Amino acid sequence: MPNTQDKLRLLPAIERLLQTADQQPEFQTMDRKLLTQVLRRTVQKVREQIQQGSDIDFSPAAIIENAKQEYNNMLMPRLRRVVNATGVILHTNLGRAPLSKRAQRHVTDVMAGYSTLEYNLESGERGSRYQHVVDLLCQLTGAEDILVVNNNAAAVVLAVSAIAHGREVIVSRGELVEIGGSFRIPDVIRQSGAKLVEVGTTNKTHLSDYRRAITAETAALLKVHTSNYRIVGFCSQPEPEELVALGKESGLPVIEDLGSGTLLPVTMADWHEPSVAERIAAGFSVVTFSGDKLFGAGQAGIIAGRKTYIDKMKYHPLLRAFRIDKLSLASLEGTLMDYAYGKPEQDIPVHYMLNAAEEDLKTLAERLAGRIQRQAGGCGVAVVQTQAPAGGGSLPAVELAGYGVSVAFSTLSATMAEKRLRQQAVPIICRVQDGRILFDVRCLHDTDIEEIANACAQLERRQQ
Ligand SMILES: *Cc1c(COP(=O)(O)O)cnc(C)c1O
Repeated sequence: MPNTQDKLRLLPAIERLLQTADQQPEFQTMDRKLLTQVLRRTVQKVREQIQQGSDIDFSPAAIIENAKQEYNNMLMPRLRRVVNATGVILHTNLGRAPLSKRAQRHVTDVMAGYSTLEYNLESGERGSRYQHVVDLLCQLTGAEDILVVNNNAAAVVLAVSAIAHGREVIVSRGELVEIGGSFRIPDVIRQSGAKLVEVGTTNKTHLSDYRRAITAETAALLKVHTSNYRIVGFCSQPEPEELVALGKESGLPVIEDLGSGTLLPVTMADWHEPSVAERIAAGFSVVTFSGDKLFGAGQAGIIAGRKTYIDKMKYHPLLRAFRIDKLSLASLEGTLMDYAYGKPEQDIPVHYMLNAAEEDLKTLAERLAGRIQRQAGGCGVAVVQTQAPAGGGSLPAVELAGYGVSVAFSTLSATMAEKRLRQQAVPIICRVQDGRILFDVRCLHDTDIEEIANACAQLERRQQ
């Protein structure tokens, strides 16, 4: 047995590895510089393993095999398409809303070349990127004016900064929300240069609590959608209309961070998700919401409301820092065209999936189960009823009833199978439930069915 020093000395030189690699046809198409880099890195890894006393195979053939894998991994993008078999429509980790066909086409069209991003075709002069979606959004929400930014977090910061910097904002204690990614209302208000004035209690806030807190320093009343929790039992908040009336009476703007902000009415189980139009009609001065939640487009923050307030934001220095990019803007405009001129319930994937009929989901689950059974005979397959949240700061505490396929591989454990499914060329993201794999079918495309069945077949075959 050679000792560690001997082994290190015996490690093949890069030149020698390159020569060996050259004899294999698959290496011939590889970029020479990249290949050298990968071989160096692979040898370095082997060296470290030897130094740690590992009994690793350091023959040229083994090193080249590792390098091949490393090379292929390197060429694989890190941002990749996945199959969403979790049943969660607005899965924040999986990119929230998938785009409609029209939005996809519009994004492709805009990104492939030059565009009218900031160009006015009529005057032949500089135009505004913010203007493209204003007409449709005003029409669809009833708002007087619109401004779009990067995301809803930026929308809230911009609205509060423009309206309440150096002054006070009143918020109910029941609505001091934290959503994922460290967006917390108290911090956001502080960052916007305003002072938070909390009123009421966790479970109950009365209109009189707001009224008593109003002083000469008050700049706005802020309502926040409790998008990821619900307070139930002995609880109440003033009606939105009451809050608006108090604002009018006191000459104060009433802002709402609506979170998801749907343009279509959405009522599921015992929950009604307030639409943007509803809130504008109720008289809110400013409403902010996300572009990639129930709205169904790409990442964006939309600010809808009274012109006097929107104007303040248009000339605010933060706007430039928060500005939306052209691809998001194109996704927004394409989606808006679906709302205005298409059949949004069918054309916009988020709404299509949200409204999927249970029988249709069951049929889809049966199709998936059939294919898995045919291709991956040996594993246990069953069509089951499922429950999943809508996700993405919408429909808090609502579980959507759907269907899925539960799979038990003959020897592979569910946790191992879940891991392997994640490592597919197109990763399949699913849940583990009661020691079995669960593929919820709500968010699946037709082609995903095939992809899942193929992956199951591969897993079942490989373990035998
Ligand atoms: C999701 C959400 C936000 C943040 O929106 P992004 O578009 O993710 O920045 C802010 N407030 C509420 C209430 C939300 O639900």
